[in-house]
Amino acid sequence: MTALPLVFDAPKRGLPPRHLADLTAAERAEAVAELGEKPFRAKQLSNHYFSRLSVNPDEMTDIPAASREKLVGGLMPTLLTEIKALACDDGTTRKTLWRAHDGTLLESVLMRYPDRATLCISSQAGCGMACPFCATGQGGLDRNLSTAEIVDQVRSAAAVMRDGEMTGGPGRLSNIVFMGMGEPLANYKRVVAAVRRITDPSPDGLGIGQRSVTVSTVGLAPAIRKLADEKMQVRLAVSLHTPDDELRDTLVPVNERWSVDEVLSAARYYADTSGRRVSIEYALIRDINDQPWRAELLAKRLRKHLGQLVHVNVIPLNPTPGSKWDASPKPVEREFVRLVNAGGVACTVRDTRGQEIAAACGQLAAEER
Ligand code: SAH
Repeated sequence: MTALPLVFDAPKRGLPPRHLADLTAAERAEAVAELGEKPFRAKQLSNHYFSRLSVNPDEMTDIPAASREKLVGGLMPTLLTEIKALACDDGTTRKTLWRAHDGTLLESVLMRYPDRATLCISSQAGCGMACPFCATGQGGLDRNLSTAEIVDQVRSAAAVMRDGEMTGGPGRLSNIVFMGMGEPLANYKRVVAAVRRITDPSPDGLGIGQRSVTVSTVGLAPAIRKLADEKMQVRLAVSLHTPDDELRDTLVPVNERWSVDEVLSAARYYADTSGRRVSIEYALIRDINDQPWRAELLAKRLRKHLGQLVHVNVIPLNPTPGSKWDASPKPVEREFVRLVNAGGVACTVRDTRGQEIAAACGQLAAEER
């Protein structure tokens, strides 16, 4: 008899098995009961995962060995395996490439600043939005991440900070940005559940403040309105990249579905509902979207839709391998920022981290493939 080819042993590509971090506190209690265990074990397990940031069964000494095996087996499958970790900026930036149970690759980036530590997380493996300047956009969508796969990126980074594995000694993971791989609002339900798990107070969740979480989107207008109606305090960032539909149709192809006007009125609804200023992301690309007239038009359109409830982050383009595009020269960038501010809209340049470790969205996973 000939052996079956290896490919038959490969795990099926798709969402991982159920995990504690997929579930609300009530659902966790139910799941534990289904496994034939006492409901209070759900609290114990949550405490290990969300408060002690542990997935190591050996540390769960308050749970008898037999129960531990059952509970970990049924509710804590291994989700993410670190396959590469790269540091730069004197050890204050750390990028991790993860492999999921089915071989899917995803990334997260931890950035430490004097006053905070921010983790940039992925919401999907790959992305279906096809923005031509973005490394992730070139590969297409592999699949959505599960709620727990999103949450586990945060748990792991919170442990890295707590254990002093970053330059600067022990600290606290304070901020989360959904600016890694994927379009968060295209994986809406799992992302919203992940935000709740990340922000629910410990031991039900990881206890990071909602105001310290940023959801960044290409501008799926109906989903922006729906997110507003969740009545959470998370910050919204909209990747606008140009104020005119003609160019935006090419830079952010989903613009053909929801125009600049539709995106900005949804953003206004978000600002009004949440009481928070909306961030506008603007990747500045040499000779593409960096003209003075675009800076003026940007300020005009933002003032009209959002008044003072807006802040523009200019991001110097981080060129992806093989791309014909480049960042704008510094004097052009300075003039762009000056004109937006002069137009009455707050505008600053986002500091760029991780250039030498391919930290631009999706670059590390693209290299690995
Ligand atoms: N899909 C979401 C979140 C992921 S990308 C979104 O588009 O908002 C996070 C930010 O990085 C977006 O503003 C995106 O446009 C920007 N970005 C992607 N590739 C980039 C690059 N090569 N240089 C600079 N910014 C980039």
